[in-house]
Amino acid sequence: HGDFSQKIDYVFKIVLIGDSAVGKSQLLARFSRNEFSLDSKATIGVEFQTKTMVIDHKNVKAQIWDTAGQERYRAVTSAYYRGAVGAMLVYDISKRQSFDHIARWLEELRGHADNNIVIMLIGNKSDLDSQREVSTDDAKEFAEREGLFFMETSALEATNVEPAFLTILTEIYRTVS
Ligand code: GDP
Ligand code: MG
Repeated sequence: HGDFSQKIDYVFKIVLIGDSAVGKSQLLARFSRNEFSLDSKATIGVEFQTKTMVIDHKNVKAQIWDTAGQERYRAVTSAYYRGAVGAMLVYDISKRQSFDHIARWLEELRGHADNNIVIMLIGNKSDLDSQREVSTDDAKEFAEREGLFFMETSALEATNVEPAFLTILTEIYRTVS
């Protein structure tokens, strides 16, 4: 019958970080299972999810880690960052404070992670544009200054979720291939 098993060419560990309630778990649920829940407790306890995508004719398995409620400052352990080749720094566009904390998350990330880790800034909940507290330009400027990729997403509306993951995976692929 032949071999139907999928050959995996690369496995990339990506970590999700950012304040509590910005939508990290729902971004992961949307990307890995095309699901979304308004009940944030629904996904607590999940360590990581995987999804395989084709990049440059290669099967690239993304192994995406979720903090599962360890978002307090310095509560995320070094084991979480170990081996990560990508990081998504997530804030909520309708919560200024979650954006103001990004610098601190970035510092923590740079203290723990590999030097050549690919980092992407994600402004989630773009569907809440009427309650926006962080302008796209402010975030873009911050990302450019810090050398991060940047995209606004909505896990709820499934806007830019796959493109965001595809962007970070493609950039990681470029750095390792
Ligand atoms: P986490 O603590 O960062 O993992 O955040 P969650 O994924 O648990 O989401 C926190 C809350 O925000 C939940 O009630 C989600 O349903 C909601 N949420 C997540 N993503 C979005 C989004 O894109 N738009 C809106 N409007 N709500 C979202
Ligand atoms: Mg969560």
